[in-house]
Amino acid sequence: MTVRVEIDYDRCTGCKRCVRSCSYGVLEWLDDAPIVANPHSCAACLECQKNCEAGAITIKVT
Ligand code: SF4
Ligand code: SF4
Repeated sequence: MTVRVEIDYDRCTGCKRCVRSCSYGVLEWLDDAPIVANPHSCAACLECQKNCEAGAITIKVT
């Protein structure tokens, strides 16, 4: 299983909820936006996607 975390920065409002909701340390805050700091740690739990009200996060599992 390969997981890709995609962040649409045009939609992101900078609420930080994705970073707070990730228990696996995948997402980190850098300056004024979330980044996918540790993509290989992603467990595809979808919490970040569910908590992003802006619809800026997409988890793709292939
Ligand atoms: S939850 Fe969504 S809108 Fe909020 S910082 Fe993360 S990507 Fe941006
Ligand atoms: S799907 Fe889960 S493990 Fe992966 S980045 Fe989002 S919250 Fe973290």
